[in-house]
Amino acid sequence: MKKLALHWQILIGMILGVLFGLGMTFIDNGASFVSDWIKPFGTIFVKLLKLIAVPLIIASLVKGISDLKDISKFKNIGLRTMLIYIGTTVIAITVGLVLVNVVQPGEGISEDTIAKLTADYANSEGVQAKIAEASKQRESGPLQFLEDMVPDNAMQAMSNNKAMLQVIFFTIVLGISMLLIGEKKATPLKNFFDSLNEVVLKMVDLIMLTAPFAVFALLANVVVTSNDPDLLLALLKYGATVVGGLLLMVALYMVLISVFTKKNPLWFLKQISPAQLLAFSTSSSAATLPVTMERVEEHIGVDKEVSSFVLPVGATINMDGTSLYQAVAAVFISQALGFDLTFGDQLTIILTALLASIGSAAVPGAGMVMLVIVLESVGFPADKLAIGLALIFAVDRPLDMCRTVINVTGDATVSTLVAKSVGKLGKPHPHNWDEHYDEVK
Ligand code: ASP
Repeated sequence: MKKLALHWQILIGMILGVLFGLGMTFIDNGASFVSDWIKPFGTIFVKLLKLIAVPLIIASLVKGISDLKDISKFKNIGLRTMLIYIGTTVIAITVGLVLVNVVQPGEGISEDTIAKLTADYANSEGVQAKIAEASKQRESGPLQFLEDMVPDNAMQAMSNNKAMLQVIFFTIVLGISMLLIGEKKATPLKNFFDSLNEVVLKMVDLIMLTAPFAVFALLANVVVTSNDPDLLLALLKYGATVVGGLLLMVALYMVLISVFTKKNPLWFLKQISPAQLLAFSTSSSAATLPVTMERVEEHIGVDKEVSSFVLPVGATINMDGTSLYQAVAAVFISQALGFDLTFGDQLTIILTALLASIGSAAVPGAGMVMLVIVLESVGFPADKLAIGLALIFAVDRPLDMCRTVINVTGDATVSTLVAKSVGKLGKPHPHNWDEHYDEVK
């Protein structure tokens, strides 16, 4: 029997997880059963993915750089990546702003709903935690991000999943220095990293064998912990505006892929679909990164010289979905609470949402922290911040799942575009987990 493709397996796991979660909401103690006995398997899966992120980035980036025949190529790749990342993010924010101004989701929201959401969430731990975290971010100076990018201890950076940019910085310096000591001297180290890279990619294959079960657990848990369906309905117009914008971004990516790489965009989406489904299930582009890298390199054919740099950097700084959401959410909250935004304010939103999405961590719910900073940039009253966040808190998780898919799709698209533009888009070469199994059976 032909084996079902991975994306179908994952999709079936997701659907069964949702149905199981729904069933459990009708059973006494169903939610705690899911939390005690099902959720841990989802958590273990996410931990496994995060576990290999740092070794994968180091091994593949060193391989990518040390394979370069010409260092100036790297500058080329870097420059193009940054420009396209910024370009797509600005487009995403603009799409969000246009939609939210046309649809006006905040106008239709009743006083009753606002009062209920405020009562339910304004003082909740979740909302207060976001505001507190935002104030920590705000205290930093304008060049703080540059300072943060340079580690003072390589080992410490490698042991901290939040220090992805520091790891990338260290690895780039390492890779370039390897090029500069000449091929003969660099070969032992290069062979070591080549081999490590193969091993970690094999670990991705192994971990992915459990993906269909893990997404079952992750989604069952999302369903049993989700909010009152009535509230979700009241916020339907807002949610639909965000999702509509995200879909437009997918359309844009498809056009870009088709025009610039001449590849069939549906083929492209199919190849990266396991990464998208995991982004949806985990709400974390960082956790999805190993799978995104594997899909883009092996299934799309992007050369490591490009993907090993573009994807990890993208997971940390390129968040088209998040920035679009921040623009829609900021205007929605202003509309609902009667805070007038001028045209200049909306331009300010473009700039701050761009910076905020760069600064957002690639973990669940991070976009909402930076939304506080976007709101503050247009002079939103501080005493109403908690009420503003309360309005959107109930639907944040499902929207987070959707925007993370776009964040990951954006990274995959840009890496493919950059690869094409520097002549590094080759043939797909997928590997199976058991290719060498016979040798060791
Ligand atoms: N969860 C998103 C990500 O990991 C970030 C966010 O928008 O909250 O890409």
